[in-house]
Amino acid sequence: MRKYEFWFVVGSQFLYGPETLAIVDARAKEMAEELSKVLPYPLVYKVTAKTNKEIKDVVKEANFRDECAGIITWCHTFSPSKMWIDGLRDLQKPWLHFATQYNKEIPNDEIDMDFMNLNQAAHGDREHGFIGARLRKPRKIVAGYWKDEKIHKRIGDWMKAAVGAAFSKDLKVMRFGDNMREVAVTEGDKVETQIKLGWQVNTWAVGDLVKEMGKVTEAEIDALVAEYEAAYDIATDNTAAIRYQAKEEIAMKKMMDREGCMAFSNTFQDLYGMEQLPGLASQHLMAQGYGYGGEGDWKVSAMTAILKAMGENGNGASAFMEDYTYHLVEGQEYSLGAHMLEVCPSLAADKPRIETHHLGIGMNEKDPARLVFEGKAGPAIVASLIDMGGRLRLIVQDIEAVKPIMPMPNLPVARVMWRAMPDLTTGVECWITAGGAHHTVLSYDVSAEMLRDWARMMDTEFVHITKDTTPEKLEEELLVKDLIWKLK
Ligand code: MN
Repeated sequence: MRKYEFWFVVGSQFLYGPETLAIVDARAKEMAEELSKVLPYPLVYKVTAKTNKEIKDVVKEANFRDECAGIITWCHTFSPSKMWIDGLRDLQKPWLHFATQYNKEIPNDEIDMDFMNLNQAAHGDREHGFIGARLRKPRKIVAGYWKDEKIHKRIGDWMKAAVGAAFSKDLKVMRFGDNMREVAVTEGDKVETQIKLGWQVNTWAVGDLVKEMGKVTEAEIDALVAEYEAAYDIATDNTAAIRYQAKEEIAMKKMMDREGCMAFSNTFQDLYGMEQLPGLASQHLMAQGYGYGGEGDWKVSAMTAILKAMGENGNGASAFMEDYTYHLVEGQEYSLGAHMLEVCPSLAADKPRIETHHLGIGMNEKDPARLVFEGKAGPAIVASLIDMGGRLRLIVQDIEAVKPIMPMPNLPVARVMWRAMPDLTTGVECWITAGGAHHTVLSYDVSAEMLRDWARMMDTEFVHITKDTTPEKLEEELLVKDLIWKLK
């Protein structure tokens, strides 16, 4: 993972004299240092800006520096906003306006006009906010005391979204074979996606992968199988199937690393020259942060990689998922999510088991090895990026994952069970109204607010289905958004 940082740019002006500016400078430095200890990425204090040129210069550098994933601005004092116009107009990195204040309390005895002139974020941040609104510049606004833990969480989450944006702009996706025949929702405009989200999506022949598999050595397979044995319980005697998956993983990883790809897709319809659909292989690659999408679904693959990068320590509990079947018993309404094989073990409640079973779909000559486990309980989200023709729409739904309510002993794949918000059937109506796919990214780690921030950074339509959503309100929202996004 690249090391990212964020820059702290504080607004002021010359009006107050050098003593006041020295205090602002010292406090800004202190705040950046203290915040760096509690935020997921360092906050580097750059400048207390007093002129148009200082702001333009710091923005130019921020745009140019790969390690700078975004800027955070704040006005300790008043900072006339005309001098911010050129810099903010040119800014290409995510922007958070932090409306905070150095002191928590108004000091009853101490307060006089000097104090007022030094501590005037309440009006400085309003002037700063106006120019953001006037420029129609996408930004996140967080208001609150800078030592408050809730504020740290909100800024931290925005930072992770910004890292997701930086990751997206660098992302390359390796496609083995095309999309599954006749499927609509996994299609999309790759040129538009590269323009908007930065993804370079290209195809490699399955034959090239088979050739690469032919070069994998027994020693390389031994080493990877030892890793599997350390991480998972082996619940099969079919070691040949496990070794075959290891060979597939090593070959795919080599090809992706050579090309700098962090996501891949394949399809059961195109496995020419392979004995098994990669199951365990894809699962273990996902566990290492690679995105995956089945049936050629490169969009969900890329989103899986991005949500992983946005998660805890740059590889969170996020996975390619598919809505499979419902339990519609009153009071126990749940979705059962799984895939043919490929569910990321980052979702697992317990140590996954390696099993081998027959797979009826596709051209599998041999029974593929796969990881089988139950997903964790807890609040989570599912996300789906769809191509609406001319634009992309990101749909996010809040869900409550539960421990699967039955053991399902004959189900040979990893499984996650959840209730969609606001309730299963209304949630399904909303999801279908918005056009959400059967493939999603399920995440325990990335929140809807983080994806809203990410969508704003990527200039992409965002739809959020929550406990308060009704199909009627959603239908109206989608009609309005359709008009807005046609005009944009
Ligand atoms: Mn699928």
